[in-house]
Amino acid sequence: MSETIFSRIVRKEIPAAILYEDDRAMAFRDIHPQAPVHFLVIPKQPIPSLAAIGEDHKELVGHLQWIASKVAFEQGLAEGGYRVVTNIGSDGGQSVPHLHYHVLGGRPLLWPPG
Ligand code: AMP
Repeated sequence: MSETIFSRIVRKEIPAAILYEDDRAMAFRDIHPQAPVHFLVIPKQPIPSLAAIGEDHKELVGHLQWIASKVAFEQGLAEGGYRVVTNIGSDGGQSVPHLHYHVLGGRPLLWPPG
């Protein structure tokens, strides 16, 4: 499994603005926000991307999406709407090979993305 900067955030070796944490997952603010609210939801287990999940990860992935929804609500995004996206691999624009969902909101978001 891959060792990335997110594993260091999980181990609290480097700081992050944590919005949610439990035994399996964390949500923290993106260090380079692309919207007024931009946070990431990650599993603590270093799964490289959504392309690497197996059937045994189905419940975990549902848990991550529940956290995305819960924290988005807490951040005031539910009424205006928001976007949840996970980048996969080089064509997907993924820069950190540790599964993460971006949650972006607080402004109108364009579609389709570039
Ligand atoms: P992606 O390009 O989809 O792999 O997204 C990786 C995201 O991680 C980018 O939006 C980065 O701004 C964000 N990021 C990288 N390092 C940190 C960090 N130390 N704390 C918070 N977010 C980070």
